[in-house]
Order: sequence, then C-alpha cells, then structure tokens
Amino acid sequence: MAGVNTPYLIIDLDKIERNARTVVDLCAQHGITVTGVTKGVCGHPGVASAMLRGGVASIADSRMKNIQRLRNACLDTALILLRVPPLSAVNAVVELADLSLNSELPVLEGLSAAAIRTGKTHDVIVMVDFGDLREGIWPDDVIAFVREAISLEGVRIKGIGTNLACFGGVVPSEANMNQLAALASEIEHRFEMTLEWISGINSSGLELITSGRMPRRINHARIGEAILLGRETIHRKPWPDTFQDAFVLHAEILELKQKPSIPVGERSEDAFGHLPVFEDRGDRRRALINVGREDIDINGISPRDSRIDILGGSSGYLVLDVTAVKDHIAVGDALSFTLNYSALLAAMTSEYVTKYTLNGSAHSVEQ
Ligand SMILES: *Cc1c(COP(=O)(O)O)cnc(C)c1O
Repeated sequence: MAGVNTPYLIIDLDKIERNARTVVDLCAQHGITVTGVTKGVCGHPGVASAMLRGGVASIADSRMKNIQRLRNACLDTALILLRVPPLSAVNAVVELADLSLNSELPVLEGLSAAAIRTGKTHDVIVMVDFGDLREGIWPDDVIAFVREAISLEGVRIKGIGTNLACFGGVVPSEANMNQLAALASEIEHRFEMTLEWISGINSSGLELITSGRMPRRINHARIGEAILLGRETIHRKPWPDTFQDAFVLHAEILELKQKPSIPVGERSEDAFGHLPVFEDRGDRRRALINVGREDIDINGISPRDSRIDILGGSSGYLVLDVTAVKDHIAVGDALSFTLNYSALLAAMTSEYVTKYTLNGSAHSVEQ
C-alpha cells in the first residue's frame, strides 16, 4: 500500500464486526451473552469498538496495560480483566476494571480493601478448574472459597466460570458444563444468593452450542479467536458465516535470487540454536522479506499465494521459496499472509509491524 511502511498488518474492522455479529446471534439463540476478548490484539480500541458494533455486551482482556488502553478510549462498555489479578495490582484493577476473574482469597481480600477505600463495588467471577489445569479453584474447594468470599465487603460475586481448551486442551462437554451448572446451583442454594453469570466457554465451546447439548444454565461466553479469526478452537475449523482474513500481514521483498537449496560448507547451529534440515531440490528462486521471529510465529502464517513456501526465518528475515511464482514478483513487492492466533498476537505486539485499520471507506495508520 503506497505510503505505508512495510511490514504492516491490515485490520478489517467490518469483517470483525460481522464475525462478532455471527457469534453473538448464535449465542443469543441459546440464551448466552458474549463478552468480546481483545487480548489477541493488545486491547486494540478500534477492534473492541468493532466487536461492540457487532453486538458483544462487554470487552475483556488479560493485561492491565490493555485494560488501561481500552479505558483511555472511553468505550461505552464494561471492561473485564480476564487473567487472575496480581496481588500487587489490586488498586489498579479496582480503578480500571469493572469485573475480574478470580481464584485466590488473598487477592479477593486485596480487591475488597481497595474497593472499600475508593467506595466502589468490584464484581468478580469465581473461576473453577474442571481439569484444564490452568487457572481456577478445584471443584471440591469452591464452596469453602465462596463462604469466605461472600463475607468480604466491596466485592460482589457476579458468577462462576471455567476456562477450558487453553492449557490442558480439555474439550468443553455437556458433562463438564453440567458440573459447572450444578456447582452454581449448590452455591445459590447454600448461600441464598443468585449468580448472574455462569461463564462456561471461550471459542472452543461453539460446537457444543450448535450441537444443542449446551446446558441451559450456561449463560455467558468469553470469545476472542472466533471473532478475530473466524475459527472455533477444538478443530480450528473456519466457523460458518465468518471471515478468516480480518487480519492480513504484508511484508516486502528485500532480495530475490536463485540459490542452492542446501547450505554450502561445514554446518553448525542456526541463529536460534537449532540444526536445520534441508532437502536438496536443486537451485531455487528465493525471496527474503522483512518480517521475522521478532514479529510473528513463523509457523503461524500462511502465504495467500499458495505457490509460495516458507522455508524458515531468523529474527528479522523470512526466507521463502518462490520458484513456482516465476517472474510475477519483484524486489519491492509486498507479499500477503493470513495469521493464526499466535502469529496475530506476535504481530500485534511487535512495534515493528505498522497497524492499518479499514473501516468502511475510512482507513487509518497507527504507530
Ligand atoms: C483468552 C481467554 C478467553 C478467550 O479465548 P478464545 O479461545 O480466544 O475465545 C476466554 N477466557 C479466558 C479466561 C481467556 O484467558
């Protein structure tokens, strides 16, 4: 794109809005409210706004810097801290986030003290671990946890939740969602309270919803990848009526030459301590482009031109085999790539990648 420094990431906000609409409509048919998750885009306010136009009820992010960025953008919505808060940051959490996900009593006590000091009420979701082994209280310990938590002033238990398919790869199922719902009922019964949110799923739960087996009690979802990249996350299949290319990375050809396909000379490790393996395919036409491991997950990007192969990369270069493209490319051309979640995360985080947003006929460059 003329006048924009390479490499750059084009963010199509209309596609994100439409992806959000598809997910929100599906969830609404099953009585599920959707919070849009922006941690894959560093809390990008434009992306959050597109999600909100697409109908999400609130925005969540895992990092306080991103929550601050979203807060500064004055979006008219509640902001949720998705990663369990650090004890050292309870004051900032109460100040900047409307709700946080929690699993530790000392942290809840800190949030309580911070809330009392500022005269606020801080909402919390109590996270339960149903076997994925990332954050959350083990189910057996939840009742004791809630008994302590309800005595704390300034914090209000808005609901309970669980996160699956993130660390252990555990699939959300009718069984574990029923366990969550049963635990919610037990808490309500024992402590004579109402839990507003039973927050069961992320993008890995969409198939369970469409299968019709999602228990009715589950009424909240926290969705990132399905909105950003148009995929459910159990099989990483494209989700119907969503775009997979709301984000497209463009990098520029710096060098284009015919070279052998195996290195010449005695060999040791590459720049990252690996011993690369090469296949002798004779002389090949190779392109160097100006993105590398510092900007992307090199296993997580796909050339939009399927004739191009990624051979590997170092911190600042990606090496491509472009033999099949013949003479249709030249030094100075930009090549485009779609991204998976980890590549998106890296590209959004890299200050070397310019972010360029499209919004109807309007567009703007950042950084
Ligand atoms: C990242 C995250 C999500 C969103 O996950 P996706 O797979 O991107 O939908 C939801 N909940 C929690 C707690 C998370 O950390």
